[in-house]
Amino acid sequence: MLNLTRQMIEIRNLLSSINHDGMRLPSIVVIGSQSSGKSSVLEAIVGQEFLPKGSNMVTRRPIELTLVNTPEAAADIASFPALKMDNLTDFEQVQKILFDLNMAVPEHECISNDPIQITIRSPRVPDLSLVDLPGYIQVEAADQPIELKNRIRQLCDRYLEAPNIILAISAADVDLANSAALRASRLADPRGERTIGVVTKIDLVDPKRATKILTNKKYPLRMGYVGVITKAPSTNKGGSGLFSRKAITGYQAYVMQQNFEHTYLKENKEDFYGTTTGTRNLKKKLMKVLEKSMAASLRPTHMAIQQELEETSYQFKVEFNDRPLTPEMYLANNIDMLKLATKELSHDFSRRELKSLIKNALDQKILDLMAERYWNKPFTLQNSKNAAIEPDLKELSQITNINDDIYWHKKLDLTTSSLTKLGVGRLSTSLVSNALLTEVENIVDNTQLKNHPMAKAAVKDAAKSVLGAKYYSTADQVENCIKPYKYEIEIEDREWQASKENAVTLLKEEIRQCDEVYNNLKKQIGGRKLQQVVTYLEKLKQHQTGDVDLNSNEALGFSHNLIQRGQDAIFLKDRLSLLKMRYSIVKNSKKCKKKENKYQCPEIFLDAVASKVTSTSILFLNVELLSDFYYNFPRELDMKFFNNLSKEEIENFAKEDPKIKRHIELQERKDLLENALSKIESVLAIQRTKTNLGPDK
Ligand code: GDP
Repeated sequence: MLNLTRQMIEIRNLLSSINHDGMRLPSIVVIGSQSSGKSSVLEAIVGQEFLPKGSNMVTRRPIELTLVNTPEAAADIASFPALKMDNLTDFEQVQKILFDLNMAVPEHECISNDPIQITIRSPRVPDLSLVDLPGYIQVEAADQPIELKNRIRQLCDRYLEAPNIILAISAADVDLANSAALRASRLADPRGERTIGVVTKIDLVDPKRATKILTNKKYPLRMGYVGVITKAPSTNKGGSGLFSRKAITGYQAYVMQQNFEHTYLKENKEDFYGTTTGTRNLKKKLMKVLEKSMAASLRPTHMAIQQELEETSYQFKVEFNDRPLTPEMYLANNIDMLKLATKELSHDFSRRELKSLIKNALDQKILDLMAERYWNKPFTLQNSKNAAIEPDLKELSQITNINDDIYWHKKLDLTTSSLTKLGVGRLSTSLVSNALLTEVENIVDNTQLKNHPMAKAAVKDAAKSVLGAKYYSTADQVENCIKPYKYEIEIEDREWQASKENAVTLLKEEIRQCDEVYNNLKKQIGGRKLQQVVTYLEKLKQHQTGDVDLNSNEALGFSHNLIQRGQDAIFLKDRLSLLKMRYSIVKNSKKCKKKENKYQCPEIFLDAVASKVTSTSILFLNVELLSDFYYNFPRELDMKFFNNLSKEEIENFAKEDPKIKRHIELQERKDLLENALSKIESVLAIQRTKTNLGPDK
């Protein structure tokens, strides 16, 4: 079978996302006042009870119903394409879903323009496209604000426009003059060219009267009227049959309705002569009318699609240079960029970077340890009583028999052990991990992902989880491999020489920094004022040791803050002269040239230790952490972005960026139009062969 209607319905659904008046293919819009039997008609056409019921009408959104004839199918199947719900065979569930979808519109809004789309496939249904319109008719009577009434009317008017066909439902037991459905249809279709009148409940009136209604000339419709019985009395709420309403539902009720209608029409055959009656005939009529109307819309729609496609293609060329883009492509491009940048990182961020990262941190620790253990004694103590117990740093360079001097011996051993036992494993692992995370952030900021906060966070998470998985084992490994240095450190001459240079540089830099802080302080306070307060503080100290008398007025004018600054200045000056002393000793003294004199040159020795610890650490960090990261990070990205994201999530992600959104949407529109065009062209081709063959061949 050529099945024109079905293909046209497909095209119609395809085009539904594009709002364009010229591209609308007809559908059958069902209207009827409450209790006219509107739901019963729709259900008799479908052969299933699926519409939500309630004394208070519950249709708040248009229901766009697509019926697909599936001759071979064993069961009726419903689906909600927009909700991605397929293969529903339980129609009570369908009813519930429709009810919920309607109820999702708040009562005060009354109505929503957003249609519910449902497709039902069954061997019993014809290929049809129907719309169940919400409370248009009720609104006329209801006591509702004007603004709301207007909104409802606008929505309904749009559906009632050509080329749609109007199915106006009226009940036989109500005078046609009072039919709200006919009244509404006459407004939209004054010449009665696109309206089919359906008269329900013809079993409730005398057959002769029913025939009169169906053949009336008072409200003429080009497509005429169809009389139906859409409920068998025993399945009726009010019916007094053997079974209660509840007991007979679904398919059983459908069979009863069909039988009852069939029998009734057969029994009154003569009376109904010359009229169209029965739901079967109604279905046939709908198919015919829809097909004819579809066929008439074919060419204009074809032209409209063609024009729209030309326009869209032009825009696509101008704006995006015909560059194809889908959400998946966009995502894949970005992830590829990340992977590429990670590969580059693996060349750039290598041993050298690792080394300076860790060595700098250890240098800082050395400075801290020196300050804490060596540089914390005022060196004027030389002549004081304590000198015997706590030798002055100045003495350090003068020691001749170093082996005799337990004090300095112990000091260096303790300091070295503080350095090697500070937790180098965790320290270096954290440093490298954090540095890599920062690198990853920089990489992301160089891609389009910078415009996607969620994706940015996801990339960071991926990096974190890869690094995190290795953190403890790496830290342990590093700690284990530097363990020997905690007990014994062998240094070669060459290493000593290098460390001597390092120590000189380190001290020089420390002097520079100290100087900078001191000068800033001077600038802040003013050189003279700072000098005054320093002089005062020095006098005060001498006074405390009993060397000098202090005039009590001298403190006047110095704020607490200023005194504090003065103390800072004294500290900095002391530290500076101490550093300079150590700098010149480390750099120039003969002693510091030899590794045997390590107790006199702790700065050099500690640097040598730090260098050893560093190079051993990076060996393991390189293997355990870095190589692992460069290998697993791209895989983790794939997992996070390709395996775990749904199609919608990828689409939502890509569309976060407005420019990408526009690009993708234009491409989608173009694809859709191309698809619709090729479909409509094949339908046109079929139609041509059909016409060439002549009718009914
Ligand atoms: P709606 O409010 O327009 O959707 O109307 P319904 O389809 O719910 O029908 C209203 C009432 O009329 C229900 O009680 C139906 O059982 C009953 N009804 C519908 N069609 C017929 C019919 O052809 N004959 C009879 N006797 N009752 C019907």
